[in-house]
This record gives sequence, C-alpha cells and structure tokens, in this order.
Amino acid sequence: MGADFLPHGERVGRLRFGLDEKEALLLFHAQNIRYLTGFTGDDAALLVGPDWLTLLVDGRYVTQARDEAAAAEVLEFRNRAEGILTAARQRSLERIRFESPCICVEEHLRLRERLVGIALEPEADLFGALRAVKDAGEIERIRQAARIAAEALAAVRPLIRPGVREAEIALELEYRMRLSGAEQAAFETIVASGPHSALPHARPGKRVIAEGDFVKVDYGAVFEGYHSDETCTFAVGRATDRQREVYRLVREAHDRAIGVIRAGVSCAEVDRAARSFLAAQGLGDHFSHGTGHGVGLEVHEAPRLAVGREERLAAGMVVSVEPGVYLPGLWGVRIEDTVAVTEGGCDILTPTAKDFTLL
Ligand code: ZN
Ligand code: ZN
Repeated sequence: MGADFLPHGERVGRLRFGLDEKEALLLFHAQNIRYLTGFTGDDAALLVGPDWLTLLVDGRYVTQARDEAAAAEVLEFRNRAEGILTAARQRSLERIRFESPCICVEEHLRLRERLVGIALEPEADLFGALRAVKDAGEIERIRQAARIAAEALAAVRPLIRPGVREAEIALELEYRMRLSGAEQAAFETIVASGPHSALPHARPGKRVIAEGDFVKVDYGAVFEGYHSDETCTFAVGRATDRQREVYRLVREAHDRAIGVIRAGVSCAEVDRAARSFLAAQGLGDHFSHGTGHGVGLEVHEAPRLAVGREERLAAGMVVSVEPGVYLPGLWGVRIEDTVAVTEGGCDILTPTAKDFTLL
C-alpha cells in the first residue's frame, strides 16, 4: 500500500495525554488495542502508562503479540485479573482508568477484588473521537476494502434475477470478496428482496427473487482490518412508477447529504439534509434510522450522523451516508456510500454507481 499509517506511538501519545506517573489506562477493546499497538488478536488487555505500554495476553497469543506489538512489553497471564495486578505492581500504580463499556459486571468485580489498594475508575469514552479521524493509510485500506467488495458485487450481479434465492446471492458475494483478498465480510451480508427489502436489517433467507422486486444488497469487505459499507438497491425485471419515484427521492436525499459534507459541518446537519428532504416528500415516517455512521476498524463507529448529534465533522473522518425509505409489506430502498471527509467536501470511497438500475 502506498499510504502509510500514522506511527502507533503517535496515536498512543494522543491518548495518554495528561497521565501522571502513578496512573494508567486499561483497555480491553480489540480494535482499540490494534489501533494503538498493531496487535491483531482478539483477546488481550492493554495498560497504557505515561511512557510505557504493557500488552497482556494468554499463552495462545504470546508469539503473535511479540511479533506485532513491537512497542509494547508483552506479559503472559494465566488469569487476566492476576496479570493486570502483576503489571500494576511492577509500575507502582495507584490509579487505573479502565474502558468500562468493554467489560462485564463479573469481570469488574474480579478486578475490584484483586486490585487492592489501586483506585479503579470507569471511563465510558476513553477514545472520544481519536479513532474517528483516519490517516492516509487507513483511508487507503477502506478504499481498497470497498473496491474488493464492489468488484465482487459486479461479478455476482447476473445472479440477481427471478428464481434465485437471497441466501445464494449473499453467499456468492461473500465468497467472491474472500477470493479477491477480503479477510472476511464486514458484517453479515444483507440481500433482501420484495417485502423483505422493507426491513432495514433483513437477513438473507430462502425467499426466491421475483419479477418486480426491489433487491437491497448491503454489504462490505474487510481489508487489513478496515471495513467498507455500501448498499445498492436494484429493481428486477420491471418497476412501477412509484418504485422509480421513491428510488429517485432516496437518491436525491443521499446526494443532498453528501453535498453538505465537509470539515466543520455538524453531524446533525448532514442527517437533516437527507431527513428534511424526505419529510417534505411525505416520506419522513418511512426513514426510520440515522443517515450514517463512522466506518473504520469497526463497521459502526464514531461519529453518528443522526438527529441531535452536534459534534462536527473533521477532515479524515470516514462516514457512511445511507438514507432509506421502507414501506412495510411492500418494499424498501436504501442507497449507501462511504465517504472520506475533506476540508472542502468529501471523497466517495465506494465505487458502485447509484443510478436506478433495472436488472
Ligand atoms: Zn451498510
Ligand atoms: Zn452502514
């Protein structure tokens, strides 16, 4: 890949800002740990001190941790709470601020019990917007994930025709993505036809595609840890005037939202651009979710483009834009692209054209 990641050390530096000698952050979230150290295993704990990092893993991950997380001291544990205690004693810690959304009540009790004499303080949002702003290397990986996914969809498109089951299309799409270099699908691929397309999160099933259906395909790939997210809605065989009309309106809402995106605009403003337009067309009640979300090491992350979200977009954020209209029992349309925010606008990372398409 041409573009480089920001060094892990620089990322850690931003997070540990203001830590004192006797204090550390304790992280559990696999993608946060990956972001800071490069370790790609899915079970670890990371202590971040003012000038040190200790990555705690069990025996399964020791070799991998030493290979991947060069900047961290790797400590093997049998019991996680014991391991954290050992590391905390080595560093004479008095206070640990831990990533509270990432552990269960049981684990919290265990930590409290073991870490005698150390203040444990929950932090609901340690990362804030840290991960939301991507560097060039991250954006390049998301773009590559989107490219792999779109090429797979282009290859699978001939399958989207009357007589074929939804699940077959989803499976073929995931297979093609894997074959072209995706680590995995970004999430369980949605292929929803006919009345299923009216469910925002339908699961592909046995339904057989019929003439006159809308087929909504919401899919993505993972490339080097980074996700893509795109939705295409196709018409099969024929389409009514109402289907064409609603597609046109959703497309317009999507284009309007993308049109207002640039650094400095609030997330709510982007949502409003799509939502107020659909509401003015009498479709407000049928647009039942937010306009978009951040995309990166996770497929849903900060920021959220939704009503009331006043935080502002910054250059380097990567967000999806995905208005939809769902008519229960009939059909639905969603059109989704993932874009990278720039100072003056945005750069669309998902390459599939979103014109009305009759297959
Ligand atoms: Zn999606
Ligand atoms: Zn999405």
